[in-house]
Amino acid sequence: MRLAHLWDQSKCIGCGACIAACNAANYASSTKENRTWGWIRSNIKRITFDLNAKPYLLLVQCQHCDNAPCVAVCPTGASYKDKDGLVKINPSLCIGCKYCMTACPYGARWLDEDTGLPAKCMGEECLSRISGGLEPMCVTVCPAGARAFGDIDDPKSEISQKLRKGRVVKLLEYKGTQPKYFVVVGP
Ligand code: SF4
Ligand code: SF4
Repeated sequence: MRLAHLWDQSKCIGCGACIAACNAANYASSTKENRTWGWIRSNIKRITFDLNAKPYLLLVQCQHCDNAPCVAVCPTGASYKDKDGLVKINPSLCIGCKYCMTACPYGARWLDEDTGLPAKCMGEECLSRISGGLEPMCVTVCPAGARAFGDIDDPKSEISQKLRKGRVVKLLEYKGTQPKYFVVVGP
């Protein structure tokens, strides 16, 4: 099993519901700042830039890399890849050295100043949801159907079917991270 996220850039309307839902589910709707990103306490980062003179939106979060640099540099084993394919953090082993934050080429980790430890997708509430057979909150709330989550090793899963239909890119693939966050850029 390899669980993965899909974000369909061509369907996303930029409403931010996924970002707000992550904040509500995993950080109790905290209004404190995520100072690492200059952003709200959410595991999804919004990046905007111009491409061919058009505004472009990219939502970035942990890519659950199959070859994860954050796991390789962690001196205690706190960052690890689980048997479901997700990269997770064991807070009881984490010493807050932040090596993983430096190693991540996506800037997908931020420092939770309440715990002094790195945070990232997925948060505790979303992990609890998927262990109960539910989707992560960002997928559940998306009004545009721009998100999917599931097992890419199962050809019948919704995410596998969407991957077969769309034009898909992976971010910073040349870094050798083997990311499992798939960006659909068109039909
Ligand atoms: S995106 Fe960053 S934090 Fe997530 S698995 Fe890859 S290297 Fe680790
Ligand atoms: S909730 Fe869906 S449509 Fe809204 S920003 Fe997130 S991915 Fe895009």
